[in-house]
Amino acid sequence: MSGDFQLQSQSFSQEALARMTEYEIPPTPINYAVWYGYVSNSVPGLRQMMDVLISNKRVLTEDLCAELYGRYFSHMDDGLVIQDAGMRLEHEVGRVIQWIDDVADGTAEFDVSLKSNMGELTQPEGLKNLRNIMETLLEESKKAYHNNQRLRAKLEETSSEIHSLREKVESVQKEALTDPLTGIANRKQFDMSLRNEAMHAMESGASLCLAFVDIDHFKLFNDKYGHPVGDRVLKLVADMLSKNIKGRDLAARYGGEEFVLMLPQTELEDAIQLCDQIRGTVADKVLRSKQSSEDYGRITISVGVGIFDPGERLSGFVERVDRCLYQAKGNGRNQVISQDMLKATVN
Ligand code: GH3
Ligand code: MG
Ligand code: MG
Repeated sequence: MSGDFQLQSQSFSQEALARMTEYEIPPTPINYAVWYGYVSNSVPGLRQMMDVLISNKRVLTEDLCAELYGRYFSHMDDGLVIQDAGMRLEHEVGRVIQWIDDVADGTAEFDVSLKSNMGELTQPEGLKNLRNIMETLLEESKKAYHNNQRLRAKLEETSSEIHSLREKVESVQKEALTDPLTGIANRKQFDMSLRNEAMHAMESGASLCLAFVDIDHFKLFNDKYGHPVGDRVLKLVADMLSKNIKGRDLAARYGGEEFVLMLPQTELEDAIQLCDQIRGTVADKVLRSKQSSEDYGRITISVGVGIFDPGERLSGFVERVDRCLYQAKGNGRNQVISQDMLKATVN
């Protein structure tokens, strides 16, 4: 078969099948032979006859097609006509198999059935059974369609289960890294982030600052006003810390009434300035009872600030910042002490 002829017969095949679909005619070999004859205009008189029937709005039923077949194909060798139709159908079936392979791997039953039918198509005696084959094909195609629908529904169900599982995992993960009282990051998240940010600082050469924040005389405050009021103060301090940071900065509750601020890409001077600004805001805040307007007075915080020395052990870095905080307490509280000031006083 030459390439052009092959292309042309393929387009006739497709047009014939399209017409049959349009007029809802089952794709039996006889019907196919009639419609192929129509679109290819290869059977004298057939096309004119069918055009007249179509323009008269005659329904081209299977019976009418059989009649047309009897009239226009009777002089031909049945075997040859059907063989020709069989070859073209085989080609179409091949395309359908390709499509099935592309669309659904799970229709093994259909595939097996198609392949056995394909085998029969190539046997001379099998050509006589084309009608049966096509019917089986249609039947199997329907089954495959339903199987695909079921598979699709199952996949949709599974995918929505996976989605909700993923959401649950994410929320459990988030919970595991969040302090339940204040809603900010907990110690675990801080430890993880510190390792990551220290790594990043070493790779990029960017500076990384850390601040420890501790509420002054908080035990006294708790003793005086009770634990629930103390909890409200912890939330308030957590809020103030979160509100005053941005971007990759992290505010975390380190434990008890102690917080930590991690400030990547921040120079020590800027970190000191930020911490002092937060310290001032906390100190200025007058705490009052929501219900009774009882005045709880003010609280203050002490802060220690340090900068990461690339390559040093993280425990050494944390310890240095902690010493700054300790010194802020020792110096009278409500103040920010940086590692530079630490050296100045200790050395
Ligand atoms: P300093 O200025 O030296 O830090 O004194 P302090 O009283 O704040 O420090 P200390 O370590 O002696 O006491 C910490 C207090 O923090 C003890 C406890 O009452 C309080 N605290 C720790 N965790 C919580 C909490 O979850 N809720 C409340 N309400 N209080 C807490
Ligand atoms: Mg304290
Ligand atoms: Mg403390």
